[in-house]
Amino acid sequence: MIDRHVRLQHLSLVAATLATPIAAQQSIPTPESVLGFPPGADFKLADYDQSLDYFRQLGAASDQLRLVEIGTTSEGRAWYVALISSAENLAEVERYRAIAQRLAHPVGLTDDEAHELAREGKAFVHIDGGLHASEVACAQHTIQLAYELLSTANEPKSRAILDNVIFVLWPSINPDGQNMVADWYRSNVGTPYEVSPMPWLYQKYIGHDNNRDAYMLNMIESRVIGRFWRHWEPQIIHVHHQSSPFPTRIWLPPFAEPIATQAPPLMSREVNMIGMAMAQGLESKGQVGATHMSPFDAWYPGYIDYLPMFQNIAAYWTETALYRYATPHFYTISDFPPSSRDLRPQTLYSSPWEGGWWRLRDAVEYMVAGAR
Ligand SMILES: [Zn+2]
Repeated sequence: MIDRHVRLQHLSLVAATLATPIAAQQSIPTPESVLGFPPGADFKLADYDQSLDYFRQLGAASDQLRLVEIGTTSEGRAWYVALISSAENLAEVERYRAIAQRLAHPVGLTDDEAHELAREGKAFVHIDGGLHASEVACAQHTIQLAYELLSTANEPKSRAILDNVIFVLWPSINPDGQNMVADWYRSNVGTPYEVSPMPWLYQKYIGHDNNRDAYMLNMIESRVIGRFWRHWEPQIIHVHHQSSPFPTRIWLPPFAEPIATQAPPLMSREVNMIGMAMAQGLESKGQVGATHMSPFDAWYPGYIDYLPMFQNIAAYWTETALYRYATPHFYTISDFPPSSRDLRPQTLYSSPWEGGWWRLRDAVEYMVAGAR
């Protein structure tokens, strides 16, 4: 009876939701109203504190976003992730977490029981920004992605995501680095050193190799992330980077050869399919220049964005083009390596990029499209 009563309450909630568009009920603040500029604006980088300020305001404005404190960073900064889903799903999130746990650790579970749980459960999807803090669009796109999802929550595509997915969005996966890089860039904008590299490490002790630590968990950040994953057991982990092979605009799975010998074949197939779906989605929006396979192989099993494959999680990374920081850059075909000047379509590079302006905002929009 209690269950039935709860369900009836849920039905009336759903009915109320259908009757009144959510966007009309809840006024979602724009990023610009909090940051003072839209994510990806020329010469502007939001630091972690600004980003968190925005996510806090989103949480206050929407019952479809819940900010969760997950630990502290190497520098002692409080670290948060945002759970984004329908209000109904968030109200039952512990039940959905228990289902994800049971499916991830299925000892004693029958096939029928597993299928029943899979039908009842929701997909937990991890997407983050800023593992490599110098790849600056990553931690800017998370702000835009949260805004777009919540401000269009009553439109069919967003509704489908919010109803079926418990989206685990990390505003940044390396908050200390995000602040360091934003501070460094701001101090140089408008000077001859505007695009100069930051002369210290954006992850304590190991810098860029924070992505090589998944098997050893040396860093505080790696441990927080690992513990979080074992707590929530996501089905998909998507980590954004920014080293697309020039002049392509975004690199997506499938990976180049060789892949790890012990990767479960079914998970490799799933990741290949997701990569192709992202490319198709980008193409349908006119976002050209997506490529696959070379040069990113998946031989090394200790990447934080590949190791979860061995735990039957579809884990992968993507690489969007970057000039430097938030400085825009104009490319002509003479900037391209000679081997890339032939713009005929290729099987895995169907819409070669022809050059032109590339701005941080372009990278943010490619990332948001890929993530969605
Ligand atoms: Zn990277």
